[in-house]
Amino acid sequence: MKVVLASNNKGKLRELGELLAGHDLEIVPQGEFDIPEAVEDGLSFVENALIKARHASRLSGLPAIADDSGLEVDALRGQPGIHSARYAGEDGDAANNRKLLEALAGVPEARRSARFQCVMVFMRHAEDPTPLICQGTWEGRILEAPRGDNGFGYDPLFWVESEQASAAELPAEVKNAQSHRGQALRCLVEKLAVRDA
Ligand code: IMP
Repeated sequence: MKVVLASNNKGKLRELGELLAGHDLEIVPQGEFDIPEAVEDGLSFVENALIKARHASRLSGLPAIADDSGLEVDALRGQPGIHSARYAGEDGDAANNRKLLEALAGVPEARRSARFQCVMVFMRHAEDPTPLICQGTWEGRILEAPRGDNGFGYDPLFWVESEQASAAELPAEVKNAQSHRGQALRCLVEKLAVRDA
């Protein structure tokens, strides 16, 4: 099955490509159709994932997979949440990480708990009334300084207790086996297999 992937985020596209390798899906990033970013004006991850998938499916004429993801920090009452990509404006990951460290200045380790959330959806077509919806969650805590060069986004500040490493210090296959995105995508692939059986 040929499916459009509704993201232009290079880090995400790389991880989704790794996670989908070996599956019976031909994935085409929406950039190959010159599809611009959707206007993500939903108030939750699930709303934004559906907006992105519907947009990509409408403009490509293909079934679509989209994820909406972000970081929830307890000491910031869940921020940056759905605003994770543009927390510090349009300046990208390094600026987002700096802003997060400033927001948490003086907050002790015990109160720096956080989690990545990912909602992944599949729509057969733009008017699909029963999209498949999966959610993954990855618990961690926010470090006081960045560590590691792998991954993307907030990975250098996200401490994974079970690995005694930041997400950016993990090899791709270890991150994918545990991450919010890995969990959500495996759930989606299972649901697709059941529906197609
Ligand atoms: P989206 O493209 O609107 O879903 O925004 C997702 C944003 O959340 C990314 O740009 C990152 O800032 C952050 N994010 C999501 N998943 C991850 C991850 O696996 N590692 C680090 N940051 C992530």
